Amino acid sequence: MNPRHVRSPFREAVIDLDALRANVAALAATVAPARVMAVVKADAYGHGAVHVARAALDGGADHLGVADLDEALALRDAGIEAPVLAWLHDPAARFDAAIAHDIDLGASSAAQLEAMADAAASAGRIANVHLKLDTGLSRNGILRADWDDVVARAAALESEGRVRVRGLFSHLANTSPDDDAAQLAAFLDGAAAAENAGLSPELRHLASTAAALRLPEARLDMVRIGIGIYGVPPFGDGTTAAELGLTPVMTLRGRVAAVRRVEPGTGASYGYTWRAPHPTTLALVPLGYADGVPRQASGRAEVVIHGARHRIAGRIAMDQFLVDVGEAEVAVGDEVVLFGDPVTGAPSADEWGDAADTIGYEIVTRIGPRVPRTHVGGA
Ligand SMILES: *Cc1c(COP(=O)(O)O)cnc(C)c1O
Repeated sequence: MNPRHVRSPFREAVIDLDALRANVAALAATVAPARVMAVVKADAYGHGAVHVARAALDGGADHLGVADLDEALALRDAGIEAPVLAWLHDPAARFDAAIAHDIDLGASSAAQLEAMADAAASAGRIANVHLKLDTGLSRNGILRADWDDVVARAAALESEGRVRVRGLFSHLANTSPDDDAAQLAAFLDGAAAAENAGLSPELRHLASTAAALRLPEARLDMVRIGIGIYGVPPFGDGTTAAELGLTPVMTLRGRVAAVRRVEPGTGASYGYTWRAPHPTTLALVPLGYADGVPRQASGRAEVVIHGARHRIAGRIAMDQFLVDVGEAEVAVGDEVVLFGDPVTGAPSADEWGDAADTIGYEIVTRIGPRVPRTHVGGA
């Protein structure tokens, strides 16, 4: 990032890699002996994939997970050699580069398995595959009705030396304890069928953060933890990061860009959805929906200036919004924290999620490219 911004960032997302590493270590201790795959898709939920991947491996993760092959290749380009699994593929994907870079491939159909085996054969290598069973989410994944054929074919490809089925996996819908238990049972049934077909995958993995924490029997050989490593609770039920032994990793902040005193009745921002109820002071914050600050949170979310909470006044615009700071002494250049660690008094990403009718996941992940990430701590 531009060093001119280091001391006085106009807009900034501070990423605390020490907190991230500690979160991974705490989660790894909780789920042991299951292993931890740190999920760093979508630029590590907006936190910066390469920095996060390194810190997560340092904290005790031994696998990395991403959605797309390009995300996996970017980790390899940065020199990261740990196992990486990618599971969501372009229908036209070619797996040659992935196999050449030793990326584990999630296979969600017989056709994908064949394409992986073909690419491995032409490269003279073995494709490391994790077969994905659809246990109920109805996204991708092999249907149970097709599973026996696919595992039989995978066993044949293994004996030809083209494929190694390193893992079996599925993904939970987090609907209810009963629904999760039914998916776990379906997964174990599919895993038994795979073993009967002659496969011996070392990694059966089903749980993401929520089940890793609340459904111990779903931990199996490995858990795939995304949101938890970022210190954002997965549950949406008011459970705090601190209650889970986690620390939020991202702090979103900026500097007050303008301050003005307004008379009763003065309108603020587009559409005058807010008018001053009495004489008050408005502070202008230079972040808007272009930066991922959700417009839906207009008039609802709060920020912290000098340790005090202040509510947004009127609509959030593309680049900026106003806060009603009342009689507080606020000056141009003062720091404004939108969200961070609630232990410091800042709103959490979850609180913004509530204000915008969404979830903490979306709040951190959508912080836009105009906001520089400043990584602090770490190795
Ligand atoms: C994103 C994702 C995860 C991580 O989920 P969290 O709830 O963030 O822990 C795990 N597995 C799959 C398949 C995913 O797509």
